[in-house]
Amino acid sequence: MTFSFSASPPAVLSIHGNGNVIPVRRIYTIGRNYADHAAETGLGAISGSVPGISLKPSDSVLSDGQTLPYPSKTEQLDAEIEMVVVVGRQGRNIPTKDALDYVFGYAVGLDMIRRDIMQDCIANEHSWDLCKSFRGASPVGQVRLASEIGHPDTGEIRLQVNGVARQQGDIAKLIWKTSDIVARLSAYDAVYPGDIVFTGTPKGPGPVSIGDKLECYLEGVGNLNISIG
Ligand code: MN
Repeated sequence: MTFSFSASPPAVLSIHGNGNVIPVRRIYTIGRNYADHAAETGLGAISGSVPGISLKPSDSVLSDGQTLPYPSKTEQLDAEIEMVVVVGRQGRNIPTKDALDYVFGYAVGLDMIRRDIMQDCIANEHSWDLCKSFRGASPVGQVRLASEIGHPDTGEIRLQVNGVARQQGDIAKLIWKTSDIVARLSAYDAVYPGDIVFTGTPKGPGPVSIGDKLECYLEGVGNLNISIG
């Protein structure tokens, strides 16, 4: 097979303490997965069977220490701190009780959103794609292997902007737990190694500006530092 032009190299995530990288396949994001954030959106929490799932392009990944170029067509770039789950095995219709066996590792990430575009899409019943699809929209820190740290189900998650606390929560308050998320995603389509999932943000995401320094922390998993340029 001869490509007509060169394929883009895959976006990658680096692994903590290991020279290897993870090629990123799909990026899923789960919405309204903390009750305190769901309440502030005015939309309520995700219900038992209705998934609040959207997709972001894999080429939106940004690494620790990099600068996110402020995207076009927005005046409200919001940052949502989230635990990121990395899938390490192919599977479909995975039972919840087995779902953690499909998880390769964890990282802390930022789900960056052009909020004004999102609100416009909601008002006009358009798809959300463009609000989450831009260069640098998915900063992700180094991945910690589940084989080393286990499967974190409790721990502080925190975002500081320019040294000031912006968001603080605990992953124990996730409505859909990691196992629920992987099981449910796999019912819609097979999951594959390199699929990653942003699991939702706690209360208080808000806008960032050019020059801001964002510091993310997830207890037991790690850090992520980026700037807006
Ligand atoms: Mn989000």
